[in-house]
Amino acid sequence: MNQHNPYLSVILPVYNEADNLNALHRSLCRELQAVGCSYEIIYCDDGSDDGSTGVLKELARSDPNVRILILRRNYGQTAAISAGVDHARGEIMILLDADLQNDPADIPRLLQKIDEGYDIVSGWRRRRSDPWISKKLPSRIANKFISWITGVPIHDQGCTLKAYRSEIMHDISLYGEMHRFISILGYWNGAKVAEVEVRHHPRQSGKSKYSLIRIFKVLLDIPLLVLLGNYITRPMHFFGIAGIGFHFAAVLCALRVAKDMWEGEQASENGFLILSVFFFLVGVMTFMMGLLAELTIRVYHESQQKKTYLIRESINPAPPRTDQNE
Ligand code: UDP
Ligand code: MG
Repeated sequence: MNQHNPYLSVILPVYNEADNLNALHRSLCRELQAVGCSYEIIYCDDGSDDGSTGVLKELARSDPNVRILILRRNYGQTAAISAGVDHARGEIMILLDADLQNDPADIPRLLQKIDEGYDIVSGWRRRRSDPWISKKLPSRIANKFISWITGVPIHDQGCTLKAYRSEIMHDISLYGEMHRFISILGYWNGAKVAEVEVRHHPRQSGKSKYSLIRIFKVLLDIPLLVLLGNYITRPMHFFGIAGIGFHFAAVLCALRVAKDMWEGEQASENGFLILSVFFFLVGVMTFMMGLLAELTIRVYHESQQKKTYLIRESINPAPPRTDQNE
């Protein structure tokens, strides 16, 4: 590692948090100085218009460890985090919210777990200080469902406070609101994931940027997550199985029509005939979608020279291959 790179990069998405930033920064510095490693703090200002930008600039003037990325407009928390990750130089990245709901005092415990050999350490807001109906209940249901469907046993996907080894973060592309699922995407890339309980405080200043609508967005992300996790290099298996299912249903309906005709009924008056044709056509369309998805995956991997595998470590790596005809 380049000796100028810090060990830790702390990344915070900031959208209209002016009244929280000074207290947050003081607490963050206290904890990081107690840990005693080199660090940088990257504030990603996601289009704030409440004066947060001015407060951040002031912090950067007085603290050389502070770096600020000011986005051109409000892109959303995931994009802000992505910007921070792209510009981070540390070996370990720590993400946390900038509203003082996450507590920097938990950082040493996350780092301790990283030292034990984990690649991702996920915070679990066991005693979460948020409204029950709009946040805690939907989050509990979504978390149960997501860990059941993905097989990743984490209680709190939505907690931003997490620590990651940088190489894990660099292998993940973040779209939409997928920052909640970094630990799942990392786990599927072979990361060792641990969980530690973290503190969570009620919001003192500023407003939450999310409403109950968020639950629908999270639910809509789940099918994509399943597709990404299990079928990213073989989408035809996903669509193909669905296509076979539809064709099987079409055959069953056709058999029913045949039986009714045997018993003397007119085929044209039989509803199962239409159903059979319907299932047949949907099956054909599903197969076609599978083929298109296969093409898309090839374009995705080959145009960006992305591999279908990731190497954790290479021992005695060979020098680059020379052309034997030279
Ligand atoms: N945030 C952001 N861009 C957005 C929305 C939120 O950078 O479009 C930041 C926000 O400033 C905070 C963190 O993401 O630091 C979490 O947001 P919030 O506290 O509103 O979420 P909640 O805790 O209510 O789930
Ligand atoms: Mg919050």
